[in-house]
Amino acid sequence: MLRPLMEKVVVIGSGCAGWTAALYTARANLQPFVLTGKQPGGLLTTTSIVENYPGFPEGVDGYELMTRMQKQAERFGARARFGTVEKADFSKRPFALVVDGDKIEAKTVIIATGASHRHLDVPGEDFLETKGVTYCATCDGALPVFRNQLLVVVGGGDSACEEALYLTRFGSVIHLIHRRDTLRASKIMSNRALSNPKIKPVWDSVVTEVLDVKQDKVTGVRLKNLKTGAESVLNCAGVFIAIGHSPNADIFKGQIEMDANGFIVPKEGTMTNVPGVFVAGDCADHVYRQAITAAGMGCAAAIDAERFLAAQNH
Ligand code: NAP
Repeated sequence: MLRPLMEKVVVIGSGCAGWTAALYTARANLQPFVLTGKQPGGLLTTTSIVENYPGFPEGVDGYELMTRMQKQAERFGARARFGTVEKADFSKRPFALVVDGDKIEAKTVIIATGASHRHLDVPGEDFLETKGVTYCATCDGALPVFRNQLLVVVGGGDSACEEALYLTRFGSVIHLIHRRDTLRASKIMSNRALSNPKIKPVWDSVVTEVLDVKQDKVTGVRLKNLKTGAESVLNCAGVFIAIGHSPNADIFKGQIEMDANGFIVPKEGTMTNVPGVFVAGDCADHVYRQAITAAGMGCAAAIDAERFLAAQNH
């Protein structure tokens, strides 16, 4: 049996919030231990070009940005372990975490577990995932099965516009299906998407079923117009779902205070209802949800954790 390790700071999550928290706590000489989660680098690694992270006038590849953040934190002594937290006990200090069967003890914890792609929850969606249904155009868009095909993107936010624009490189026509008649996306992204001749918006409509389970691949979507009630089938070879995210915080339920949608609610600064447990990034932010705001919150959580430890004479 492995001896429990006692860490001063454990950062759960390795997105913008996690690596920034690690950078700041590393520079405070706290040798943070970063548990990467099952997607090291977080959601940004699935984005192509990030154009709104300050300091990169030409934009930066999402994967590269995260690799750079990791290297920067490691340069000052942060350590990373690939792994997912299975259990967390915040009932007493030191806190106890179980990661892939190993117990880790921590004086402070920074939760930076981010968010995951939301699902439509319609028939056919789960069954046809990886058979034409995907949540990441940059990961899957270039697959041969989507080349020169009719494709569908669902959603009306920046992600949906970004996915649709990216897919214009591969598909013949990209149908952008949105449940209202105006996009939620920022003006610049909306204009880019709507002025692209390959992108055809389908307004006021929702996907009610992904077809065709019997054929074991995506052949189309069943649509419902919410204004007229009319139903139709739109043929396509791929369905790219970009309808937002839900927080990855279920594992902390019952211990850490959350809102009705499962986002962690900080009590004071970045401190949660449990003194010594801090939170940063998309798992606590349903408003801004930007790489830069997550990084800023990671910085704040690190400073809060450092002050907490100092007050405890650690
Ligand atoms: P979002 O802004 O929350 O948009 C989600 C979209 O999906 C909305 O249009 C919403 O419709 C729709 N939707 C939600 N649930 C649905 C359902 N069950 N069925 C059908 N449609 C549904 O999410 P996001 O686009 O992923 O963006 C998240 C954050 O990241 C935002 O702050 C965004 O600005 C940022 N982001 C920025 C960039 C960029 O600047 N390059 C790129 C990607 C993301 P309604 O509009 O009707 O609510």
